Amino acid sequence: MPEDNLPLPAERELGEPETVEKGVLETVLAPVKGFGLTFGQMFKKVNTEQYPEQKKVTAPRFHGRHVLNRHPDGLEKCVGCELCAWACPADAIYVEGGDNTESRRFSPGERYGETYQINYARCIFCGLCIEACPTRSLTMSNEFELASDSRQILIYTKEELMAPLLPGMEAPPHPMRLGDTDAYYTGSAS
Ligand code: SF4
Ligand code: SF4
Repeated sequence: MPEDNLPLPAERELGEPETVEKGVLETVLAPVKGFGLTFGQMFKKVNTEQYPEQKKVTAPRFHGRHVLNRHPDGLEKCVGCELCAWACPADAIYVEGGDNTESRRFSPGERYGETYQINYARCIFCGLCIEACPTRSLTMSNEFELASDSRQILIYTKEELMAPLLPGMEAPPHPMRLGDTDAYYTGSAS
């Protein structure tokens, strides 16, 4: 033992015999403990989703792909006001309004959305555009499978966004079948 009573380096590394035994035991049992954890997980409920074989069911108010809606007679609800485009924080919407005429009418208003595009390479699905739409033309669907490696495909046109014609609807252009303009926006015809 040196004069300063400190243990020799070899004694310091090995420590007391009991501590050494405990360390060896822990080292030997560590893999067993690990396998036990793995084994225990095998009997727990599996959370893996089998997508795309089993499509995920979304929440009722899910923010998915947009839809441009129609009135019951088939006329378009969009009046080409561009408020949705102005509300969009991602600059994802492009609208060009066109003038309706009595012989060529697409919406009950003075104007309609002649060109309408949503760029899904930019859209963040915040829903501010549907909040801004004064005619409830623009809503969001539950469709979320939009991924593509083509920027062109990710720009959805008016034709792609427009709701399909349901029974009793007539493809525009055509006259207002539901009466005057108020009938379209007071609830009875929407
Ligand atoms: S959901 Fe948001 S980001 Fe997407 S088009 Fe509408 S306002 Fe723009
Ligand atoms: S979708 Fe709505 S907010 Fe956008 S241009 Fe048409 S009417 Fe206006």
